[in-house]
Amino acid sequence: MRTIQGIAASPGIAIGPARVFAPEDLSFSVSTPADLPAEWQRMTAALQTARTQLQEIGQQAAAQLHPEEAAIFEAHVQMLEDPEWQAAMQTAILQESRNAESALMDTAERYAAQLEALDDAYFRARAADIRDVARRCLRILLGKPQPDVSLHQPSILVARDLTPSDTVLLDKSRLLGFCTAEGGPTSHTAILAKALGIPAVVGAGEAVLSIATNDLLILDAHHGVVVIAPDEETLQRFERAQHAERDRAAQERAHAAEPAVTRDGRQVEVVANVGSLDDARHAVEWGAEGIGLLRTEFLYLDRQTAPDEEEQYHAYKAIFDVMGQRPVVIRTLDVGGDKELPYIDLGKEENPFLGWRAIRMCLDTPEFFKTQLRAILRAALGHDIRIMFPMIATVKEVQQARALLEEAREELRQKGLAFGERIQVGIMVEIPSAALMADALAKVVDFFSIGTNDLTQYTLAVERTNKRVAHLSNALDPAVLRLIARVIEEGHRAGIWVGMCGEMAGDSRAIPLLLGLGLDEFSMAPALIPHAKALIRTCDLETCRQLAQTALTLPGYAEVEAFLAASSPVV
Ligand code: PEP
Ligand code: MG
Repeated sequence: MRTIQGIAASPGIAIGPARVFAPEDLSFSVSTPADLPAEWQRMTAALQTARTQLQEIGQQAAAQLHPEEAAIFEAHVQMLEDPEWQAAMQTAILQESRNAESALMDTAERYAAQLEALDDAYFRARAADIRDVARRCLRILLGKPQPDVSLHQPSILVARDLTPSDTVLLDKSRLLGFCTAEGGPTSHTAILAKALGIPAVVGAGEAVLSIATNDLLILDAHHGVVVIAPDEETLQRFERAQHAERDRAAQERAHAAEPAVTRDGRQVEVVANVGSLDDARHAVEWGAEGIGLLRTEFLYLDRQTAPDEEEQYHAYKAIFDVMGQRPVVIRTLDVGGDKELPYIDLGKEENPFLGWRAIRMCLDTPEFFKTQLRAILRAALGHDIRIMFPMIATVKEVQQARALLEEAREELRQKGLAFGERIQVGIMVEIPSAALMADALAKVVDFFSIGTNDLTQYTLAVERTNKRVAHLSNALDPAVLRLIARVIEEGHRAGIWVGMCGEMAGDSRAIPLLLGLGLDEFSMAPALIPHAKALIRTCDLETCRQLAQTALTLPGYAEVEAFLAASSPVV
């Protein structure tokens, strides 16, 4: 028996045989071809074959009803066709006399490295996409077959790392878990595992590569541990834990569609954070009572031109239709800062997180903003839709955004287009100034949704992607808790509801505390909903109130964490 420590990327316990996805040998030599135009032709032929393969896999993904994965392959085709990249390869071959393999890999690596240097998980993930596309072309140039990822029995997949295209072809019904040598909590493998609700341990190092297919493995993805060839006693212990976990999860799922009411009768809404049509479908399956945060960025990124009103209308309507009469809070575009859009000049900023982003950018580009507002208003017809503005810092911004919303309505009336009339308008409270001005803001909106991811970043002055200062970043810090308490109190004083859509809302340690502070709505990743509801049903509100009041008086997050771990709000 051996154990390897990695990073827990998607919780749970998996036990089963390993299926090792062996690293491919894609080594190549660097040479100077005699016939350079013929070499360039070899390159363009490989690009053409890659495009055909990608279109086929994309169609396969679409046929399996995975539109997000299909979109990944469309994005890969676009990368292949990128004129800048093609020109760089052409120069490397025709002018620098490089062979196709080295021209391809060097240029791809250059682009990937540029993206990877950006402090943003989204762009780092795009770097993996570029490498994925380049490896596909390289495989074609070398005449090697596409990798075999078939699973003949339920297995734990072991790999160096997995690319998006590896995982599309996987038979997910036989997948017990993932174990990778590389990758972090935001890698493609981690995101996929969370979406599928299966355990994953990533970044476990080279030792993972010594595992052989059919070795018996235990993945303890609560603690990031991989056990290879466990002894009988360990195996039994984990089997018991897995059974208990499955029983509990099955129980929770069986009651996921029921309301979340505390023991003493306080009902709160438990809703989902959603970033795509697929997420919306999952949300319903996991018992979401609605959507508390629909991030609309998915429509705007990864493309060369802005989506027009028609495209947006159809995309939003598809999601609203899945949700039926359940309420949906749709957030207007939250890009800018470090998330660039090729079709809007965002300029270079010293401190992008403090820069021209989200509502600030939208208010400065009213026609662009109103296109989204008109699409939302039209799609809202017949649904319970709430519009939410992100990154609000001042009352004036809300007034300006509402004025543009009114203009969008008027434009639709002029055109004779039908739209949803009764729409609540709210804001994300994720900047400390908004939390401090909650009393004034509550007078101009219908609801607040607290964004603890950014609120923590701005309150503690810790950039959320900066690993060096990550130890300072904790939403349980009393400074953040005091702002949350204030927002809820002021919202209620003005008679509006207050929700939360930051990660904290789905954190089971924080839920009793948030109940005690009076939060009305909890919005989280769909898979967290059944457990959150089960937890709320065990809570006693009065005990939670006392718990919250004590937490607010503690000096730091370490004390809050220790206090929460030691106190149980459960009667
Ligand atoms: C937040 O800031 O808490 C939030 C939910 O928004 P995002 O993570 O999209 O910035
Ligand atoms: Mg935010």
